[in-house]
This record gives sequence, structure tokens and C-alpha cells, in this order.
Amino acid sequence: MEKEISGVRIQCIKGDIAAQGDMDAVVNAANAELMPGGGVAGAIHRAAGPGLAEECTSLAPIKPGEAVITGAHHLPNRYVIHCLGPVYGVDKPEEKLLANCYRNALKRSEEKGIRSVAFPAISTGAFGYPLEEAAQVALRTVMKEAPSLRFVKIIRFVLFSTRDYAVFEEILAQLASGEHV
Ligand code: ADP
Repeated sequence: MEKEISGVRIQCIKGDIAAQGDMDAVVNAANAELMPGGGVAGAIHRAAGPGLAEECTSLAPIKPGEAVITGAHHLPNRYVIHCLGPVYGVDKPEEKLLANCYRNALKRSEEKGIRSVAFPAISTGAFGYPLEEAAQVALRTVMKEAPSLRFVKIIRFVLFSTRDYAVFEEILAQLASGEHV
């Protein structure tokens, strides 16, 4: 599903963040050390190869809400943007820190002239952020940023499960139609 907001196409798809070959950049739900891990970080580092972890060494550690950019190595993209989401119930205020991830990832994208960027549902796996709340923050933040983006024209949310996809799709439809929930 796709909605256009201020000339930016916001998409939700079900899929694997490490298999988005038509996107300039993919976002990693990273850990503070920017090292391979489970979930998204595992999939991204596996597909990118060991060169990615090597490049990350000099950029770590990062704090919740921050985003740093590297090359994509063997991934089929130009860049990887590494965001550290908040751990739910621990890093506070969660909502602001999660919104900062999306804002800062878009900032890194604009600095490089990136036209298309794919996000996973940051913090909703090992970091325990409830999916619906996280979807509200993610979608509201990118919709708010859309009018000020010069280069980014496609923002894709890549959801791993059918349920996660359904939640994002419903919230995107509601927000785009102006029915605030
Ligand atoms: P965090 O530590 O920020 O919570 P995780 O990687 O544990 O990050 O999970 C974030 C979300 O990404 C979860 O909803 C998880 O189901 C999903 N996910 C896991 N692997 C992938 C993948 N390969 N592509 C897209 N989403 C994924």
C-alpha cells in the first residue's frame, strides 16, 4: 500500500529489509555497538558481509535516537543508515527517542542526496516497543517531515510479519485520510 504526502511516497510492504534492491538506502535497527545481532541487525550484517562491521567500528557507540550512515558493502543498496531505537520502558522518553531515529535517518539521507529509503519497525523486536504505538510514532514522524524533504521521494516501511504489515497499513490509511486516532 502507498500514500503520497507532500510529494513523498510512503509505502508499507511485507518483506525482508535485507532484500530491498530498488532502494538507495536501508535502515538498520542497530545496537549501540553497531555490531551484528539478532533480528534486523543480523539480517543486514549477514547480507552485507564482514566489511560492514569493520566500517562501523569507528562510528560506535551511538545513543538512542541517533543515526549514522555507512556504505552497504554486499547489500544491494548504496547506503546503510544505523539507528539505535529506545529500549521500551528503559530509555525515556521513548516516543521522542523513537521519533528522533526516523528524523535523524531522514537527515542522514538528505545529506547524501538519497531518493529512497527503507525502514524496519525500529524497537519493536528485542527492544519491546508495542507495535501499534511504534507504528503511530514512525508514520506520524515521516509524514511530518515529508514537506521539508528535498531529495527523499520514497519512504518504505518493510514489515516482517503479516500482522505487523496489517497494523502499519491500517494506521497509514487512517493518518493519510486525516482520521486522527
Ligand atoms: P530492535 O532491537 O530495534 O527491537 P529487532 O531487529 O529486534 O530491533 O526488531 C525490529 C523489528 O524488525 C521487529 O518487528 C522484527 O520482527 C522485525 N524484523 C526482524 N528481522 C527482519 C528483517 N529481516 N526484515 C524486516 N524486519 C525484520
